[in-house]
Amino acid sequence: MNRLLFLVLVFFSSLSIADENNTNHAPRAFAHRDGNAVFVDFTRAHYEITYDIDAKSARVLAEITFLSNEEGYPVFDSVASPDSVMLDGARTVSREIRTPDQATTLRVLDQKAGKGEHLLRIELPLTELVDFRSGGVRSAFWTSDLDERNFLERYVPANFEFDQVKMDFLVRFKGLSKPQSIYTNGSVLRLDQETFQIAFPAHFTASSLFFHTVPEGVMNESRFSLKSSDGRVIPVLLYAQKDSWSAQLERLGERVRTVFRELEADYGPFPHPSILVYQAGAGGMEYCGATMTDFGSLGHELFHSYFARGVMPANGNSGWLDEALASWRDNGYPTLNALSGSSGMSSHPNYTRITDTAAYSFGARFMGFLDGETRGKGGMKPFMRELVATRILKPMFVEEFIEWMEDFYQQSFQDTFKRYTYKSRLPFEGTSSSLQTESHPHRKMSLKELRAHL
Ligand SMILES: [Zn+2]
Repeated sequence: MNRLLFLVLVFFSSLSIADENNTNHAPRAFAHRDGNAVFVDFTRAHYEITYDIDAKSARVLAEITFLSNEEGYPVFDSVASPDSVMLDGARTVSREIRTPDQATTLRVLDQKAGKGEHLLRIELPLTELVDFRSGGVRSAFWTSDLDERNFLERYVPANFEFDQVKMDFLVRFKGLSKPQSIYTNGSVLRLDQETFQIAFPAHFTASSLFFHTVPEGVMNESRFSLKSSDGRVIPVLLYAQKDSWSAQLERLGERVRTVFRELEADYGPFPHPSILVYQAGAGGMEYCGATMTDFGSLGHELFHSYFARGVMPANGNSGWLDEALASWRDNGYPTLNALSGSSGMSSHPNYTRITDTAAYSFGARFMGFLDGETRGKGGMKPFMRELVATRILKPMFVEEFIEWMEDFYQQSFQDTFKRYTYKSRLPFEGTSSSLQTESHPHRKMSLKELRAHL
């Protein structure tokens, strides 16, 4: 076969073949009306985001190509109610429903789709974290895993966290009086004064992307680069509001260098092509190679570029793993020889999307205990390094983590995880409101608090 023909075939076959990791991690279909509500595999999502400065309004047009493995009513999510929904060119609507286990709310199309490839076109208003001010706009797509429906679906139509999808934004600012800055972990192309194209890597999920735009000149910035142990040059951009009394970017830069060296020494080359840090607020939130954080949480949040936004959770029941590992690191990796207590961190209802906050306390102690159990083979760190080397940029279930750990140490851990993390029918240890105290080291801000940092 000639090379060109081969490339053409590879290109077209890649358009229609579902990613196996996505399909394997999709939640199960559930009975809905005269059939099933089915979780589908988004293969491409193109978002046109238009900010109309004069009208002080913002809108989103989403064009999503997805593959369905079975006939049924396709599931997606969007907190805002769509104004227009088209499936394969035919008008339909979406309805909000609760999952049968009552774990979460999602949207399901009113129209069935057969097995195969489909095109979904959705229009809706963007109102969350948007602030029109002095001839420009401040807008961000910040996320949280402690409250329901707080990933990308808070802003634009998106899939559940299991799904990796090639996303791009076309961002338009209509009627600008001065230029806008864009801070993101995607690659930005400025098409003209008012239009930007942003391409995100194909491994991104609903919890991966960082997007923040403000009028030019309202932020202080600091740029430098770091040399990775694999030879790459990693560009770093730190920024903070000019009127922020607490942000000192020089001091933050020193801390980034120190943490970067620590993490590369422990877990190998940094898994992302760049680092972006917005110093603001209290606590922090992690994205792929990016974070919005206070000074004290920087190490915790950059660790998440390896575990959470490197080795990724596929659902709420695996979300505790990375918080437990990050908190265990924050505590200085203590080894425990005994552990009291238990939790249900791995055994919340099937469709759960949020992380059990027991991860920060009990979860961290559990990792210390596993470190004790594996001390004879070097403890947990060699396994974590192996995970980064072999399982990076793929969502996983907690059951896979256990299986890989057993393969690595040639030892059974089923009973240990069952005893300490699968104790069922326990409520979540904390709710987001219990995190809203100054004493919590990794608090995540509420929507209302985030608004103050746009
Ligand atoms: Zn964390």
